[in-house]
Amino acid sequence: MQDSAALNDMRLRVREALSRVPVTDIHTHVYAPAFGDMLLWGIDELLNHHYLIAETLRWADVTPAEFWEMDRRQQADLVWKTLFLDHSPVSAAAEGLLEVLRALGLDTASRDLESYRAFFAAQTPEGIVDRVFECAGLESLVMTNDPFDDTERAVWESGPQIDSRFHAALRLDSLILAWETNYPRLRDWGYDVEGPLGGRTIPEVRRFLHHWIDRMEPLYLMLSLSPSWRFPDGSQLNRLLEECMLAVAAERGLPVALMPGCRRQVNPDLRLAGDSVGVSDLASLERLLARYPKLRFLVTVLSRENQYELNVVARKFPNLMTFGCWWFLNIPYLIDEMTRMRVELLGFSHIPHHSDVRVVEQVIPKWTHARLFTEVVLAERYAAVEETGWKVSDAEIERDCRDLMGRNFWRFIGRL
Ligand SMILES: [Zn+2]
Repeated sequence: MQDSAALNDMRLRVREALSRVPVTDIHTHVYAPAFGDMLLWGIDELLNHHYLIAETLRWADVTPAEFWEMDRRQQADLVWKTLFLDHSPVSAAAEGLLEVLRALGLDTASRDLESYRAFFAAQTPEGIVDRVFECAGLESLVMTNDPFDDTERAVWESGPQIDSRFHAALRLDSLILAWETNYPRLRDWGYDVEGPLGGRTIPEVRRFLHHWIDRMEPLYLMLSLSPSWRFPDGSQLNRLLEECMLAVAAERGLPVALMPGCRRQVNPDLRLAGDSVGVSDLASLERLLARYPKLRFLVTVLSRENQYELNVVARKFPNLMTFGCWWFLNIPYLIDEMTRMRVELLGFSHIPHHSDVRVVEQVIPKWTHARLFTEVVLAERYAAVEETGWKVSDAEIERDCRDLMGRNFWRFIGRL
């Protein structure tokens, strides 16, 4: 049984260390200011986040079709009224928005949406990014970059000057998961490809990947996977994965991020809010890890039921780095559970948190929670260690925290 004074003292020591440690957010959906309107920020974007839209549509007296007919401001008004005024904002997503307002110095007690709008109207994208990085203790973040997105591709082709705190990750869902829809676009761009992957298709897709790696300089290549993904099999998806994505990753010395477990568009009426969760087959992941021991894989899985098994897989494969509490797992209850399980099974050899945010201010509550549960879990583990007579120094606590909050990522991807 741990003595509560010793535990409190240890919590203060860990909190102090975490406050000094810079954070790298290894997967987000925010864009650098150079991407213009693709960088989402401000109160109307915060209210229109798809988590809050899904929660609103459970109450509101409008159909999804009627909701999408409204303009952004009307949608935000409805979310505010439904989730903050008609009911108390206790869900993690709603409470997180209040944390953003508080961190930016706004008075949440006023409940005055128009005053919040006036505050954001007076900000610039660059100014809000600086303030948000400061509040969240962020040093850098990784975007999600898709060359099949017309707006985004045009920005890359214009040779943008990108804020050095924003790094690229080359997302290949549009290429690999939506091959049937998108291969004609590769043909439009001058690649000699065929739908059934015959002829010169494989080398041409590799040429496409090399082109975008040269242009974006991504830190890793990434792909989400359905729970029905199995490996190996003779599927077109696995051929594109192995013969294109993994082959090019090996040639370029890049790691690969895989994200199994999302079931896309179970309710298409909800649009971005319409994706769901399923349990993945991690034996397939094990076979992939065993087949490519020299490739490095960053993996997060969406279902809670897979988390214990994923930690065990990580114990078997040093080329696997688990990361973050993805989407619906990113709530205090499950961050606590997952961080605890990872630390007890893997010590410090994992990346416990990423934010996955779409609106830049959301990094503030995400990293507040990440620090809090890192503090809670580490304090208990250090206190247990000290009960044996072993002593942990402040420098060692800071070293361990630095690993979790950033250095494990940079080391694993070979950039440290
Ligand atoms: Zn994501």
